[in-house]
Amino acid sequence: MMAGSHVVVGVATWSLAAPHLGMAPLDPVAIALAAGGSLLPDVDHPSSWVGRRLRVISRPLAAMLGHRGVTHSLLAVFVCLFLLRWQGFSRAVIGPLMIGYLSHLAADLLTSSGLRLAWPSRKRQAIALCRTGSFGESIIVAGVAIGAGATILHLHLSWL
Ligand SMILES: [Zn+2]
Repeated sequence: MMAGSHVVVGVATWSLAAPHLGMAPLDPVAIALAAGGSLLPDVDHPSSWVGRRLRVISRPLAAMLGHRGVTHSLLAVFVCLFLLRWQGFSRAVIGPLMIGYLSHLAADLLTSSGLRLAWPSRKRQAIALCRTGSFGESIIVAGVAIGAGATILHLHLSWL
């Protein structure tokens, strides 16, 4: 999916997951972290939003391992979790960052290109509901955003 789509899906996913983690769904810092986490896996693509900003990392990563390889795998999720915990980051940072990261993998799973969740295995997984950058992607992202917004509204209205 495109960067904007990943941000929308990441923030929507965070807003739905946060109450289950005992965290505020609309905290602006957490939302920013979820958005950042939703962009991180594409550091393996020099033309991606994050890849253009981190070319020193994205170019060698793309050349050695290709796009939608290790950064789009469950191994990357566990390594990120380990590094964040090892560096002493709090749950308030790790939670939204990793929810955003996982949302990126889930969103790319919906594209026809899929991803290699079990990297280094070469087998790709894809649900293939749309192609990256297509109208179908826009429809899916709009559906996720509307669903998350409606859920949050429902939760807040039920508290009144
Ligand atoms: Zn991706």
